[in-house]
Amino acid sequence: MESTISFPHILGHFNDLVAVTAGYPVAETANLPITELSIDSRNKTFTPFPLFFAIIGINHNGHDYIIEAYQKGIRQFVVNHAYNHSIIEKYNDVNILAVTDPLEALHQFTIFYRSKYQLPLLSITGSNGKTIVKEWMHELLSRKYKTVSNPHSYNAQVGVPLSISLLQPNHEYGIFEAGISQPGEMEKLARLIQPTHGLFTNIGPAHSQGFQTITQKIEEKIKLFAGCSTIYYCKDHPLVDQVLRKRYKNELINWSFNNPTADYLVRCKQLTGQTKLQITRSTQNHKRANTFIVPFRDSASIENITHCLVYLLDNGLDPALLQRSLLQLKAIPMRMTLKAGMNRCQVIDDTYTNDIASLRLALDFMQQQQPTKRTVILSDMLQSATPDHQLYQELAALLAKHAIHRLIGIGPVISHHSTLFEIPETIFFNSVEAFIAAKPSFKDETILVKGARSFRLERVVQTMEKNSHGTILEIDMHAIRHNLSYFRSKLQVGTKIMAMVKASTYGSGSNSFELASALQRHGVEYLGVAYMDEGIHLRQQGITLPIMVMNPTDDHFDAMLSHHLEPEVYSLPLLDELACFISEKSIQSIPIHLKLETGMHRLGIEETALDQLITQLKQIPALHIVSIFSHLAASQEDMHDAYTLLQADRFIKMTQYIEQQLAIKPLKHLLNTNGILRFQQFQFDMVRLGIGLHGVGVDQTIQPYLLPASTLKTTISQIKSIQKGESIGYDRKGIAQQDITIATIPIGYADGLSRSFGCGKGRVIIQGHACPIIGNVCMDMAMVDVTNITAQRGDEVIIFNAVHSIDALAEQLGTIPYELLTQISQRVKRIYYT
Ligand SMILES: *Cc1c(COP(=O)(O)O)cnc(C)c1O
Repeated sequence: MESTISFPHILGHFNDLVAVTAGYPVAETANLPITELSIDSRNKTFTPFPLFFAIIGINHNGHDYIIEAYQKGIRQFVVNHAYNHSIIEKYNDVNILAVTDPLEALHQFTIFYRSKYQLPLLSITGSNGKTIVKEWMHELLSRKYKTVSNPHSYNAQVGVPLSISLLQPNHEYGIFEAGISQPGEMEKLARLIQPTHGLFTNIGPAHSQGFQTITQKIEEKIKLFAGCSTIYYCKDHPLVDQVLRKRYKNELINWSFNNPTADYLVRCKQLTGQTKLQITRSTQNHKRANTFIVPFRDSASIENITHCLVYLLDNGLDPALLQRSLLQLKAIPMRMTLKAGMNRCQVIDDTYTNDIASLRLALDFMQQQQPTKRTVILSDMLQSATPDHQLYQELAALLAKHAIHRLIGIGPVISHHSTLFEIPETIFFNSVEAFIAAKPSFKDETILVKGARSFRLERVVQTMEKNSHGTILEIDMHAIRHNLSYFRSKLQVGTKIMAMVKASTYGSGSNSFELASALQRHGVEYLGVAYMDEGIHLRQQGITLPIMVMNPTDDHFDAMLSHHLEPEVYSLPLLDELACFISEKSIQSIPIHLKLETGMHRLGIEETALDQLITQLKQIPALHIVSIFSHLAASQEDMHDAYTLLQADRFIKMTQYIEQQLAIKPLKHLLNTNGILRFQQFQFDMVRLGIGLHGVGVDQTIQPYLLPASTLKTTISQIKSIQKGESIGYDRKGIAQQDITIATIPIGYADGLSRSFGCGKGRVIIQGHACPIIGNVCMDMAMVDVTNITAQRGDEVIIFNAVHSIDALAEQLGTIPYELLTQISQRVKRIYYT
């Protein structure tokens, strides 16, 4: 079958790139086509003619990866003028364009590419809800149009260009979200996206880095809408309303829950597990109401879905069609999640979208997981701009490239194209029901489940999830990355980071692998663990970063060495044991970290022992001192700052003495999370970052810049009515002072909900309300007073999350966030959002 669309789609040619940027080609082999834009070659596979932009970011410099990119098959590069291209020039089959700013060149090429298309294009900005509104809008618009949008939240200076490059000739509608962190950025994004329609979600109260006032932030964001014919927003945010009306006039269309002067008036009524929305267009002549049932009850979801419905109604979508699609939407952010599956499987749940672009992202993510057998469960692809046969050919090639061992196809279309897949094992089912009935078994593998919304593949995921009792700890990996970048921005150039991943990374890992591998990808230089077992675990799963072990013991030196783990030496007796081991086994060289006592009075070599230490070290040349460090006792509290300064002073003196005596220059490090934030003058060569990565445990003035990464939640198992005077739970500690309603929740002290939460001291959040725990916390359960809300079995119960912070909870219970995080037991299932 002949087709008019080239595969893969050609974005332009090298000569176009030369023409639209102000650069000059320093090497040119031929006027090659460009089929893909890339800024990162790690863990990725490519279409035939990728173009690599060497972008300099906070965390990495693209120029360092050019050779690696070449080895992966990339032949076209945009580099900075200053880059010494002789390194790559020896390969005579490359195109290299030198420019002043590769990011600017990426923008210029994107503007050139975008200008080839004329189609309705909605662009979304605001503080919260951008991604979910975009995802829902995509889902709903796809019922009628071939739609393209940003994959995940690719919404900033690099992500937007990469998203725009996904536009193809058959697309009928575009939806792109735009996010900024500084003044000046939105004008650039507006030029890239060139939206025809705009939507402003809302503005958050948090004051943010980069903007002086909230008004300035709104003014900056709405620059996105400069060329739009219509702009949609909610009139119930007065500041947004005011700023938009000052800048734009005729273009505005707004809605409100209570203001009758709005263009659309929205009434909502809560039902069980759902909400009824009545949306009325208030034109001068007639009023027309449409009613929808949506599968959410929380206020954020209601606002987000109303944005979608008002927009879609105003743009003529059929209300009946919308209602049919609505009930399939999911309230959680539509992001890939990594879950623990049965029989030691890992399940990557990406059951929200299914198109080639997002499948590639998911497969790349899969490649970053533990190296096991890989299975992909895939539904039909819907609403693609590419003809079926070609699409499934492309799909087959993609799966083969990622060394997928087994494909399970679900749906009539993928089944019809079964012969295209050259994969060791393939099975096809016509429907999810057929798949479930067949009860396929899974063991020791990584399984990607990816499908269009309408297939509701979450039913497939459910069959594979490890049994659990409803309590989960969610880790937001985006937040972890954000926090890492924040701390990095506080460091002088060249200061390294040792990420502390002890105690299952502060409770967040079943072991520490998921976080450690993300940290390794994001350029952390060192890892620190408490015990050797933790280090061995990381090695066995493919972590290659250097790892320091803080509590080594002599019976373990062998295993430590064979796993390339580096012991901390904190005392002379430990040094003696190591010396014995070295001479017994004739070890050539062993890397160690010296820990000095400066005031913590826990582990560390005392100042008075330095001379003896030095004498001993001189006698054992096999000991290679990688670093010297100490630990601050009270870096967080200004009342102890004099003590901290004293510790730093001792540290400097002691390290200088050792360095002089041994004529060595090891890495020096002193600061933990709060040390980094409060004592920038003591960064030395490295810092040790622990709790800050999780976005908690820092000073209140810093908190707004961090994203708390952990959510501990469960669901209500049962609701009961209790009469006045009756008792609740063990030892009859809870007594109903009046007739009350209680909810039983499946989380107890064996899960990490400490008994100190009990008897009214701790609260959990249900439907946004703080509900006290009544009576004693049991081993596996607790009871909550829900008298004042209409709670139901199955309702979500938040113990803590980004809003109901661990810090506040810790303070309430008289403990510290470190303890709350690390006491969550291993039977609580961990789920990772990327
Ligand atoms: C745990 C630990 C850290 C990290 O401390 P945070 O306050 O969590 O950043 C740093 N250094 C040592 C020696 C530690 O044990």
